[in-house]
Amino acid sequence: MNTKNKYERPVINKFYSGMMNKFGSQTIASPLKEIEGKRLNDLTDKFGSPLFVLSEKKIRQNQKSAIRIFKTRYPKVQFAWSYKTNYLNAVCKIFHQEGSWAEVVSEFEYEKAKLLGVRGENIIYNGPEKSRESLITAIKDRAKIHIDHFDELYDLIELTDELKLKARVAIRVNMDVGIFPKWDRFGFNFENGEAHQAIRRITAQKNLELIGLHTHIGTYITYAESYKVAASKLMNLANWIYDEYKITIDYIDMGGGFASLNTLKGQYLPAEQTVPSLDQYADAIANGLLEVRYKGEELPTLYLETGRALIDDAAYLISTVIANKRLSDGTRALIIDAGINFLFTSFWYKHKISQATEADAHTENTAIYGPLCMNIDCINEGMNFPAMKKGEKIVMEYVGAYNMTQWLQFIKMRPNIIMIMNDGSIELVRKAETLNYLLEQELLPLKLT
Ligand SMILES: *Cc1c(COP(=O)(O)O)cnc(C)c1O
Repeated sequence: MNTKNKYERPVINKFYSGMMNKFGSQTIASPLKEIEGKRLNDLTDKFGSPLFVLSEKKIRQNQKSAIRIFKTRYPKVQFAWSYKTNYLNAVCKIFHQEGSWAEVVSEFEYEKAKLLGVRGENIIYNGPEKSRESLITAIKDRAKIHIDHFDELYDLIELTDELKLKARVAIRVNMDVGIFPKWDRFGFNFENGEAHQAIRRITAQKNLELIGLHTHIGTYITYAESYKVAASKLMNLANWIYDEYKITIDYIDMGGGFASLNTLKGQYLPAEQTVPSLDQYADAIANGLLEVRYKGEELPTLYLETGRALIDDAAYLISTVIANKRLSDGTRALIIDAGINFLFTSFWYKHKISQATEADAHTENTAIYGPLCMNIDCINEGMNFPAMKKGEKIVMEYVGAYNMTQWLQFIKMRPNIIMIMNDGSIELVRKAETLNYLLEQELLPLKLT
């Protein structure tokens, strides 16, 4: 075998002294060669590169442990899987098997949940856009409709009158929880009385049954106390509804937004050391909910629509090195076959990236670029990384949330997604797209042929 090293133009790097860790001044990069006993090279040999890899075991563990964490602090808990975070059938199905309902924000997500066997009453229908047709379906299905604005409320009043059916509704409430930017574009505001006004309108309708209160204060919230403020404001509203109308609501829905283990750009310490744990979020929410004035079994159920924090660490993206380069300032650059087209979250995350092969202990500041002909296609502007050869694999971790829904079919077709099953087998859960897939949607006018 020819083991001759590839020639590289010599460069001079400034040496930064004094930045020692316990191993000395060298950064030790440990490779990630396998996932649950499967060698990454074997996986890409069989399923191609780039390749998304999901772990059934990890998803189940995450959901089970989240349920345990919340149930030890509050007696009535129900999770609903946030479809937009990852709506692959295989992923949703596992969450449903673990007892989670469906939280959807569009018509097609709603239909997808039903196709997966979720009963209407176990679907939470959120989002600012709900067509009249989809509202009719949701009313008939007895789904939980979370009203976002007054126009939707008027639609519901009209439709339930026409259909002579009752709708089961909640309102989405936005509020000041001390974080910036404030998410006040969804739902009805708490502080200015808009939420109270919406509730007055709802309770005046015999066909609208107010069953819950909902909030989703944002995403990747790194301050657990914000959830305490949110929970206690919703409880304050629930108590007001009780005093004013003698209505006890069934549930308080705290939405999603817990941070995952990804590190934000601009954040110095890794997320593992900075973001609150699920236990801390759960403590904060349980503390806020204690302000309830309901008695005994009337206690509202706590709903959670956790997305990111339950799926991010259950997925990997394997990618192949296409080329090595030196930028004009001497910085080493790697070009890999997966870019921001498949890793949308790299806009705000410094993804954890490892090499899949035993590499040199020597690392160097390296920029990592995707394969797109676009300057923005940068996965990492510069991180310590060992030298890698063309054809070698690298792997990005914590990519389960939003990438498989926000990915772009741009310049390249989307790749295969596989799942490592609990029994050790490997299943293809989404096929790579082909040119035919693209052409199926296109129509070439006869006039142009
Ligand atoms: C996106 C979304 C979620 C999930 O948010 P995460 O940050 O992924 O936990 C939950 N509820 C609603 C209403 C959402 O829009």
